[in-house]
Amino acid sequence: MNQAAWLLLPPAVWAGYAWGSHALTLASAWRGPRLSGKAALTFDDGPDPSHTPRVLDVLGAHGITATFFLIGERAAREPALARRIAEEGHDLGNHTWSHRSLWLSGPRETARQVGQGHAAIAEAAGAAPRFFRPPWGMTNLALFPLLKRLRTPCVFWTVQTEGRRPAAGALQIERARRRTRGGAILDLHDADGVPGAGVRLLEALPGMIAAIRSLGLSLVPLRELL
Ligand SMILES: [Zn+2]
Repeated sequence: MNQAAWLLLPPAVWAGYAWGSHALTLASAWRGPRLSGKAALTFDDGPDPSHTPRVLDVLGAHGITATFFLIGERAAREPALARRIAEEGHDLGNHTWSHRSLWLSGPRETARQVGQGHAAIAEAAGAAPRFFRPPWGMTNLALFPLLKRLRTPCVFWTVQTEGRRPAAGALQIERARRRTRGGAILDLHDADGVPGAGVRLLEALPGMIAAIRSLGLSLVPLRELL
């Protein structure tokens, strides 16, 4: 698309109707197979120097591998932490270079957010991201050809225990227990977008793991769920 032409598209075509292109490219996932007996924990917005190491400790203590959707510029600032995530067997995902809304990004900015994010994570962690998740789940028409080229499917989520409003740890555990089914992808945050998200996650995580396991589900990285 011409660099300026996207400005002339009705916003719904640029943003909302991009849902159509998910189906066309077959490159998006909201969940895994329902009868798999598996669910996946995914962590967005890190790596965060104070919360991410503690999340990794909790996962390690429970013998769980998960998926981390990193922000490129944060990975570039915390390469040792990005590398630790990869070395401990977790999947890496690209969560853009600087967490910009793709609804408000034109083709050039979309390419920068996706490409620079991917490259920064690969460089910092020593392993390329396998998946992509757009900030706030916002996509646009320029996104999917880029993801196809990088071979990183777009992964959304089935369950959010905390959305844009803070939710206490106990409430997050309860939501995980009530909403998680086989194949579910849980969207969690190990860094602050919503203030205090990392602290609340750490309060909730052990209880959440126990609640999901009590449903008879095992927790796996996305490469195993999808
Ligand atoms: Zn995010």
